[in-house]
Amino acid sequence: FRMLRHNDPEMAEALLDELHRVRGGLQLIASENLASPAVLAALGSTLTNKYAEGYPGRRYYGGCEVVDRVESLALERARRLFRAEHANVQPHSGTSANLAAYAALLQPGDTVLAMALPHGGHLTHGSRVNFSGRWFDVVAYGVRRDTELIDYDEVRDLALRHRPKMIICGATAYPRLIDFAAFRGIADEVGAWLLADVAHTIGLMAGGVIPSAVPHADVVTFTTHKTLRGPRGGGILCTSELAARIDRAVFPFAQGGPMMHVIAAKAVVFGEALRPEFADYSAQVIANARALTDALAADGMRPVSGGTDTHLALIDLRPLHVTGAEAEARCAAAGITLNRNAIPYDPEPPTVTSGIRLGTPCLTTQGLEPADLAEVGALVAQAVCKPDAAPRIRERVAELSAIHQAYPSEL
Ligand code: PLP
Repeated sequence: FRMLRHNDPEMAEALLDELHRVRGGLQLIASENLASPAVLAALGSTLTNKYAEGYPGRRYYGGCEVVDRVESLALERARRLFRAEHANVQPHSGTSANLAAYAALLQPGDTVLAMALPHGGHLTHGSRVNFSGRWFDVVAYGVRRDTELIDYDEVRDLALRHRPKMIICGATAYPRLIDFAAFRGIADEVGAWLLADVAHTIGLMAGGVIPSAVPHADVVTFTTHKTLRGPRGGGILCTSELAARIDRAVFPFAQGGPMMHVIAAKAVVFGEALRPEFADYSAQVIANARALTDALAADGMRPVSGGTDTHLALIDLRPLHVTGAEAEARCAAAGITLNRNAIPYDPEPPTVTSGIRLGTPCLTTQGLEPADLAEVGALVAQAVCKPDAAPRIRERVAELSAIHQAYPSEL
């Protein structure tokens, strides 16, 4: 960092400002986490320089003997951590991983059955502004109006009617467990591939605190930067039978040279997640999310589906007559970072929304416990309902974030 400060003070200042922003508030974005200093060290390494198109032992560049070791370590750890037959750690992001999964299993124009975006699905699950909606014929399933849980009867009916070539399960804003075995049964009934996109929950699966998708899905895609607490990036797990198809779909179909510094950082986080402490961390993420959800509910914020089984809460603000956009801005004024989010059957447009999404991966990394999250929930509720109280709430937020400082001071 000293070198950056000397070489490019303007950028050094921006990086420091970001560290201070994180340290100065409470980070409740469900898709974010605080990667360890060891992960950051791997990311900032000279491996960023190396071209290594291909796979370990089969590269299109010279000088790959060290990066072969790095990627082999990442692959071996990923297979062990997720009990998967095959892993690919090259996808640059969750979106790249999904692009490769589609490319490995489908032809353009094929039918895909996936969760609707307004019900918690991801852009890559068929949005018209994304490759998935543009190049594939996507049929969407959603959650029931009464329970706000995935309607497995609807999934089966749609699968029988449309005969999709692939079914996608996994979501961006769904607080409950997904029944992968039920999806497997439906996929088998219609002869479809099953893709589990567990970008959000992969860390909880790694920690062994929620059931894994690996035994049920043909292909599992994930991100490394959310609950898994690694570098920004993606990955794919699959059966040995699909290994060659998946590898070819990542490189050379969807990507060129792999980012070896990111792959090294992925290996570091897989190593961290293999330790028993990560199981404790993952259990605490869920306990914290439950405490947060209960506290919000006690203050009149309605949890969609009635609660959470994971790291995130989705809150319906309509009982308070506040929109998601207003709540996001009011929380920001109080030093609390979270995002507006559509709720199922949302009457508001996506830029406004009737909901907010909150997650506990960052605060749990900082060492907060359920009693702290109950207080955080009360602070969020006050920030949303009493915008005039923002300066007072901000003081307590600053105290809490100083007690549980993000990253050691010597970083
Ligand atoms: N899939 C799901 C379910 C996600 O929630 C996300 C990110 O939020 C992605 C894929 C895409 O990940 P990325 O932002 O790394 O492309």
